[in-house]
Amino acid sequence: MATLDLSTQQREELWQMLTVQLESHYQESRGMKVAPDLDLKAIKDLVRKFSVTQSNDPKQAIQHVIDGLKEFTVHTTHPGYYGLFNPRSNFAGIAADLITAVFNPQMAAWSHAPFSAEVEHFLVEEVGKNLGLAEVDGVFASGGAEANSTAVLCALNDQFEHFTDRGLLGLKEPPVLYTSIESHHSITRAARNAGLGDRSVRLIEVDGKLRMDAQVLKQTIEADLDLGMKPFMLAATAGTTGSGAIDDLVKLGDIARQFDMWFHVDAAYGGALMAEDQLMRHLKGIQQADSITFDVHKWFSVPMAASMFISSNTAILEKAFRMTNPYMPKEARDLEIVDPFNHSIQWSRRFIGLKFYMTLLIYGWQGIRETVLNQIKIGDLLRKYLIECRWQIENETVMPIICFRKQDLTNGQVQEICDAVVKSGKVWISTYPIKGQLCLRACITNYLTEENDLKVLIDVLEEAYQKTIK
Ligand SMILES: *Cc1c(COP(=O)(O)O)cnc(C)c1O
Repeated sequence: MATLDLSTQQREELWQMLTVQLESHYQESRGMKVAPDLDLKAIKDLVRKFSVTQSNDPKQAIQHVIDGLKEFTVHTTHPGYYGLFNPRSNFAGIAADLITAVFNPQMAAWSHAPFSAEVEHFLVEEVGKNLGLAEVDGVFASGGAEANSTAVLCALNDQFEHFTDRGLLGLKEPPVLYTSIESHHSITRAARNAGLGDRSVRLIEVDGKLRMDAQVLKQTIEADLDLGMKPFMLAATAGTTGSGAIDDLVKLGDIARQFDMWFHVDAAYGGALMAEDQLMRHLKGIQQADSITFDVHKWFSVPMAASMFISSNTAILEKAFRMTNPYMPKEARDLEIVDPFNHSIQWSRRFIGLKFYMTLLIYGWQGIRETVLNQIKIGDLLRKYLIECRWQIENETVMPIICFRKQDLTNGQVQEICDAVVKSGKVWISTYPIKGQLCLRACITNYLTEENDLKVLIDVLEEAYQKTIK
């Protein structure tokens, strides 16, 4: 094997082997241990098991990788994974990733990947329409972190006339960004990466329902204005990562407009409520957003990494990212199209949108809607079971994210219970502090999770609780 290829016969055999192995993994997810032992030495040794100086047998190589992943991965495919929005990938999305890898369309220039570029354009329109935006532009991103970074860059380009040219060095007034203490850390990091630094981010206190406190926000903005700062961006969260809280988007949108700021809504997880008209009322006010982050790889269950940056300002992505260079292909110069690279932080880019397109083709919006509704229902059921077992629910949200504790437990004991539950290998949960008190946190994030799976969780919890208080 002197080249990077295999014989036709070898490839056909390997495809066979792969599909059989992957399908059996997919079928057997309930039987696996959800979380692995974190045996660092064993993992390092396993990774280095094969010499890579010369070629190896491809069958052995594939088997090795599948075995390694089986043993040392937190299995988000398992219905007992009540984790952090990491889904069990849906089949259409998996097929899409495979197809993408084979065709490998280059998503920088439109003319190199016209079908792919138009698929993504179509999806941006679908999502913009569902979210109720009057005008829509957007781009696919690797994740919510990249989409939030895109938002900060768009806000800077929109709010400061010469930003594209002179950058931060050309600013007279220090820019300030506002978000809540419950927001995702990627907002602060986006500010850091944009050259603003953590101190230009005001983390606003939250109210009793863990939503950004609008009164405190206003006072903070006014104080900053008095100091000669320039409030340039307000980043609300629609579905916080910790507890699923949705900021008051109507109120915050009004404040953003009053102070002439860019209004961003981080709806990485909660944006999925767009799938159902009745649920959209929880996102009321999102229509006023200048930009929105939505992760397709969370509630819509496509494989990572797939996120969308959506904007109602159809000029801003061009302003922020347009570049010219001599080596760009020019075949499409007479067409009314957008070269994807002119909208993105990325240059060479994978066809991220296909996972979403194929999910829609195969299951339709109806399939997505039913999944979202079902997971909300399973979440409600879990709340009911927890309350029956005298757990106290500490957060309030329509989404299937449940934070719970018992009054007699210290924070240390809550962590102890969580560790014991994870160690059981039957389920995976996490902890999250609410108002200084550590809670257990379970999120229905797998479309396979059903009533019987909840009973396993409840049993494991009860056992861990009894052991802890003894
Ligand atoms: C998950 C999440 C992010 C980060 O998105 P990634 O896709 O993980 O990069 C940002 N904001 C919120 C609210 C999230 O839940």
